[in-house]
Amino acid sequence: MSSETLLKAPPATSIYTPTSEVRDRFDTYVMGTYGRFPIALERGAGCRVWDTEGKEYLDFVAGIATCTLGHAHPALAATVAKQIQKLHHVSNLYYIAEQGELAEWIVKHSCADRVFFCNSGAEANEAAIKLARKYSHTVQQIEQPVILTAKASFHGRTLATITATGQPKYQKHFDPLVPGFAYVPYNDLEALEDAISDLDEGNRRVSAIMLEALQGEGGVRPGDLDYFHGVRKICDETEILLILDEVQVGMGRTGKWWGYENLGIEPDIFTSAKGLAGGIPIGAMMCKKAYDVFEAGNHASTFGGNPFACAAALTVAKTLEEEGILDNARSRGEQLRANLNAIAQQHPSLISEVRGWGLINGLELKEDIELTAVELVKAAMNKGLLLVPAGNKVVRFVPPLIVSAAEVDEATEKLEAAISSLVP
Ligand SMILES: *Cc1c(COP(=O)(O)O)cnc(C)c1O
Repeated sequence: MSSETLLKAPPATSIYTPTSEVRDRFDTYVMGTYGRFPIALERGAGCRVWDTEGKEYLDFVAGIATCTLGHAHPALAATVAKQIQKLHHVSNLYYIAEQGELAEWIVKHSCADRVFFCNSGAEANEAAIKLARKYSHTVQQIEQPVILTAKASFHGRTLATITATGQPKYQKHFDPLVPGFAYVPYNDLEALEDAISDLDEGNRRVSAIMLEALQGEGGVRPGDLDYFHGVRKICDETEILLILDEVQVGMGRTGKWWGYENLGIEPDIFTSAKGLAGGIPIGAMMCKKAYDVFEAGNHASTFGGNPFACAAALTVAKTLEEEGILDNARSRGEQLRANLNAIAQQHPSLISEVRGWGLINGLELKEDIELTAVELVKAAMNKGLLLVPAGNKVVRFVPPLIVSAAEVDEATEKLEAAISSLVP
């Protein structure tokens, strides 16, 4: 289904609540862990959302690269309604048919042989870290395994994943961090080789390298093909595990099922979460058979892989597949980059680069100007377009994968209007 058929908003069912009232209650009772934009979204349809004041927005955030099928998609709505009336949660004490079906789908559509389910990206990465460490101790015979990650990466907010995240701002005041991590610059093979040999000392050795195929939060930076081919070669030659964090780019976001398909290599372990069930919480860690060293009792999750989340993910998977939505993600992505490049050409003093794969794209602002990504995001919001920063200078475009050609043009027109409002 194209999102055109979903454009008409469903009738508002909730009682009209002025945004200020929502905000006051929220700010009184909810921890202030987020810098929030001053709107409250109430309902959505396709690529559009409406706030509590009735204002309409074109949604190029999609819950941060998560609502793959947009909002209120009929197929997803039908599945979750049906599943909650049938069976929504039972625990992993028992076999779960939907979980098995989803694992089979993932294995048949990726390089993986085995899947572990959890509820978020950070948890999926935690599982990958634990699996790699167990493999290091039991198979590689490394006493002090080190996992190398990239600077400017993002892997989540648990203690192990903020440690894996190569950005000090996420780690500040949360020390002591988890031992066994070291950092290298992204897309720099020489630095990686140096780090591997520098860290090799006594019982310590690099046992795994964990990277994003495209750095999302760190500024929408695609992996370099030569770099990743080099990384794969080093991993093969030195028996280091290659873990790819596909939490943001997996499940069709780049116009291919998995980010690594853009790089022409395969990881040993990879993770997925954001778009996997189209906005229903889920996380997954995949590996090749040789690395599946988990035994009963090694790792677990109460909610992980419950019938509700897995049924939702299966519907997302089948809808993406049956309706050719990955093709749409590729062609709409090309259209979006062409439109953004045209805007960049008109504003050479503002915009330094447009980059991305499929429907994850970034527009980078010049380093030497005052304008920040969040200021441009706010201006776009005023014009009815939702965008999200990726760092201080990059504005990220991650619309639902069902976005139409007309909606892409509308988004870039609104962006132009936003830029005009900032640049007299
Ligand atoms: C969002 C993200 C995470 C964290 O996912 P959560 O579901 O918020 O825990 C990890 N890695 C990457 C690449 C992400 O984009």
